Amino acid sequence: MIDSILAHINTSPTPYHGVQTMVSVLSAAGFEPLDETKTWQLRAGGRYYVVRNLTSLMAFRVPKEGLGGVPQLKLAGAHTDSPTLKVKPTPLKEKNRLLVWDVEIYGSPILSTWFDRDLSLAGLVVYRNGKGQIGHQLIDFKKPITRLPNLAIHLNREVNKGYAPDRHTELNPIFGPINPDLSAREQFTKRIKQALADEGVGKTDTLELLDWDLSFYDTQPVQFSGLANEWVVGARLDNLLSCFVGLESLIGPSNEENLSLLACFDHEEVGSTSTVGANGNFMESLLHRLVPHEERFRQTLATAKMISVDNAHGYHPNFPNKQDENNSPYLGEGVVLKYNTNQRYATHALSGSWFINLCQQKQIPSQHFTVRADMGCGSTIGPMLSARLGLSALDIGVPTWAMHSIRETAASQDITHLQTLWNHFYNMP
Ligand code: ZN
Repeated sequence: MIDSILAHINTSPTPYHGVQTMVSVLSAAGFEPLDETKTWQLRAGGRYYVVRNLTSLMAFRVPKEGLGGVPQLKLAGAHTDSPTLKVKPTPLKEKNRLLVWDVEIYGSPILSTWFDRDLSLAGLVVYRNGKGQIGHQLIDFKKPITRLPNLAIHLNREVNKGYAPDRHTELNPIFGPINPDLSAREQFTKRIKQALADEGVGKTDTLELLDWDLSFYDTQPVQFSGLANEWVVGARLDNLLSCFVGLESLIGPSNEENLSLLACFDHEEVGSTSTVGANGNFMESLLHRLVPHEERFRQTLATAKMISVDNAHGYHPNFPNKQDENNSPYLGEGVVLKYNTNQRYATHALSGSWFINLCQQKQIPSQHFTVRADMGCGSTIGPMLSARLGLSALDIGVPTWAMHSIRETAASQDITHLQTLWNHFYNMP
């Protein structure tokens, strides 16, 4: 099971590719696509998915009794995006005799981890072909095409005392030498058109690039680590790990009485307020179409259960003063239930005890997390979704090290525990 999850993360360098991977898994499992612009005819017992803007996806199973009553909604949420460096609209700039990529920082990556990695580029390209038709295509160079070299220690003797790169001038991956025969724009266009040709978009000499959303990523795959393969390490564990564990549960055996739903949103790392974010209307719009009757819609939400699944901070033995000594989860010791009294997490005593009971029913180890009282706390899609929809929710996830590093670490056992829990969630009455 873990192997297929790692394979899925490796084919998903961007949210576009993550959703594309999820769609291929769902299609193979018999889920049917829905289009938000069309009228829906949902069958009792049917299985469907809907994608918005190519980067957010919702998949669900209609109860075998249909949607005529008040369905038992089992809703699980995660996010498809991860911190990264994105190519700017003017993609290249000159620095003396070299061209470098110009980037925007998406979310909050640990910037130092991006140096000296074998970086590739992937994402969406929108083009106009020779017939004037507008199309779009996902591309992925798949191999290292650039890097962000560190400065030699001889030129920065202070580097080991901590280095904060200038976010505008010192995070430009190297493109290559300036070509006197081609402008920077032409050099960029030539490379992207080649990538389009590699994806089977024909007659690239007549294409005009209109726009793109391209991100750099580390080509080293997500893989097992540790003498007994006890860890999983790699990029985008936050939060594709949760997306793909949830996907495996949704396509597996499930209680046919439930309306089981998996929601994977983009833009969590930048606050979720967008047409595809959890603070947009995608979820509410979908649920309204499933249960259009207003009174039954409200009843559905009032009786629903929601888990917001995102990674947690595991105890780091080298930084004991950064963690609450009594409420820090350990890697390998179970699924984490996250609490924050200032509502940065959705868990409350009633939903938390419901989760603890759920774990005990299946002998799934669980742990608690709270941040130290003298530190700020991260957040998830949990609080905003439960606030928008008025449903009971909780925040859980697997403990990890180095969240937002270009290579994060989770424990293999915890992924198995999360899978068992998620299966139970969709299967419970
Ligand atoms: Zn996350």
